Amino acid sequence: MSSFPRFSGLESHGQIQVIFGPMFSGKTTELMRRMKRYQIANYHCLVIKYAKDVRYDVSGIATHDKQVLAALPTEHLTDLYSEALKHDVVGIDEGQFFPDIVSFCDKLAELGKVVIVAALDGTFQKRGFGDILNLVPIAESVVKLNAVCMSCFGDGSFTKRKGSEQKVEVIGGTEMYLATCRGCFHSPSKSRSPLKTLNRVSQADPNVKVASKNLFSQDVENIEMH
Ligand SMILES: [Zn+2]
Repeated sequence: MSSFPRFSGLESHGQIQVIFGPMFSGKTTELMRRMKRYQIANYHCLVIKYAKDVRYDVSGIATHDKQVLAALPTEHLTDLYSEALKHDVVGIDEGQFFPDIVSFCDKLAELGKVVIVAALDGTFQKRGFGDILNLVPIAESVVKLNAVCMSCFGDGSFTKRKGSEQKVEVIGGTEMYLATCRGCFHSPSKSRSPLKTLNRVSQADPNVKVASKNLFSQDVENIEMH
């Protein structure tokens, strides 16, 4: 049985759902999946994104694979408070960038709204990002998603920054950040060999069966599991 979202009794009980994870772990995709379910169930849904984040699209939220859902941009959540009150479900992307994230989510949930936050839990130095960890004690559900480690293909739970920029708030994609596992976080960045090549090598051994799945391509329709 799924622990979230619950569609019954939304009017009387609000809730906060938190989706944590490093970069490239599918947080925005998971936020969109949950928002779409509420949209299909005819709830009034609002998505809020951070104003300085203009990668790929200025009017919606974008995932790294370029799916888009309409979203209102802001730097301060309180600026959209009255707008949020007109909706049943409020999704917030890149929640770690908002200084007022905790009080905003708490107020809305207390008023019976469902609030879903996608956020980096940690900085590239593995420290809590801003105030975001203070959402945990007031949330109904918290998950941490894993990316694929971009060095060794294990589970990547951390965000590692390439280069020497030390400011915490730097928005970027693969050109600036890596998702890594615990071991690769401390080792120098290796360039990754394409997974296709790895699979081809493995498939040369007739005794080893490998899923012909290309993790980083757009083509997920024809995943063949063995
Ligand atoms: Zn690794």
